[in-house]
Amino acid sequence: MNIKVAKKSEKKFKERYPLIQKEDLIDVPSSFSDEWVDFVDSKGQYIATGYLGKQNKGIGWLVSWQGSVDTAFLESLFLEAKNHRTIFEQDESTSAYRLFNGEGDGLGGLTIDRYDNFAVFSWYNETLYQKKIKIVQAFRKIFPEIEGAYEKIRFSSKSLPESQKLFGSDAPEPLLICENGVNYASYLNDGLMTGIFLDQKEVRGRLVEGIAAGKTVLNMFSYTGAFSVASAMGGAITTTSVDLAKRSLPKTKEQFEVNHIAVEDQKIVVMDVFDYFKYAIRKDLMYDVIVLDPPSFARNKKKVFSVAKNYGELVLDSIDILQDKGLLICSTNAANITLEKYKKMIIKALDEKRVHYKFKETYQLPSDFKINKHFEEGNYLKVFFIEIDKKSPMH
Ligand code: SAH
Repeated sequence: MNIKVAKKSEKKFKERYPLIQKEDLIDVPSSFSDEWVDFVDSKGQYIATGYLGKQNKGIGWLVSWQGSVDTAFLESLFLEAKNHRTIFEQDESTSAYRLFNGEGDGLGGLTIDRYDNFAVFSWYNETLYQKKIKIVQAFRKIFPEIEGAYEKIRFSSKSLPESQKLFGSDAPEPLLICENGVNYASYLNDGLMTGIFLDQKEVRGRLVEGIAAGKTVLNMFSYTGAFSVASAMGGAITTTSVDLAKRSLPKTKEQFEVNHIAVEDQKIVVMDVFDYFKYAIRKDLMYDVIVLDPPSFARNKKKVFSVAKNYGELVLDSIDILQDKGLLICSTNAANITLEKYKKMIIKALDEKRVHYKFKETYQLPSDFKINKHFEEGNYLKVFFIEIDKKSPMH
């Protein structure tokens, strides 16, 4: 089957841009074939092979610029992906990392994470999901060491659960994984999330190395408290984890326990972060390090929060409870905002507070989250370490 690409989109696809949008096609078929399809230019000349599948972003991916996508092709993608991660495979202090990063590894719509000897597949559209038998076969040939796997359905489906077993043996619950020598309890078959976001390993790594040693750390939007645990392991005096989800309390306790850190020395607060900022002011609480890692979007009773609109408010509120010389760790996984725009939002808030600041370190996705060089927008993670000096104002 051939599909014609709109004239204006031919060039980018020939240059290996992988994501297909509606506007890129002359006619969008009313139903998508489960087969691989050839995409052709206005003269009918072959451009690339790929598939159509409705996702959160886009309606399909180009996969091969050299003809058919068969078993040998899939195996070669997995082998290349494996070779790209030998440094993680050999690192005994880290047992969880991304094995396959969608379009970064040549096949948009699927990611695979390794948790010790288990894997978690995330399917982002139904078309690719229909091809799972062949994909899983190719994967198991290249990764025979993976004993069992689970899958997450990240497209809308009436019949499929969010999470289920995919193959092999069951993972223990919790499954303890290791990262930079720190343990994390993970649950591979409990909804879409596992208890740890593997894309933050470098940021946690800096905390473990001691960037918060001897300091008090406030971890906002803490989820299972991974940044808090990394800070405590790196010598922080005490950590405060704030999240409004009730489950965050037992989950965070567990993360401390699996590292033999006394939970009594740590604070875990179930509260809206915007309420916590007010609470901290009332109680005269100040922190040396504040981590701000909100979801891209959140809705609660009082307001709708989006990183693209409201991140500045978090920075403004944080400055009020940051010690005179403090470290602000600003993080977002929002794909709809560029690094530059995000930085500008933060700077605007810092300028408004008239503090002196220095952007010290920047992190984006770690190398296991391989980026497609023709699709830089896939590098959604943006993290800044900013030193703040409140006593010597800039202006
Ligand atoms: N920083 C975490 C991941 C954060 S995930 C980590 O590195 O592991 C986002 C978290 O924000 C979720 O756990 C969610 O419950 C929480 N959340 C969303 N809105 C919130 C709010 N207004 N106040 C507190 N927590 C919130």
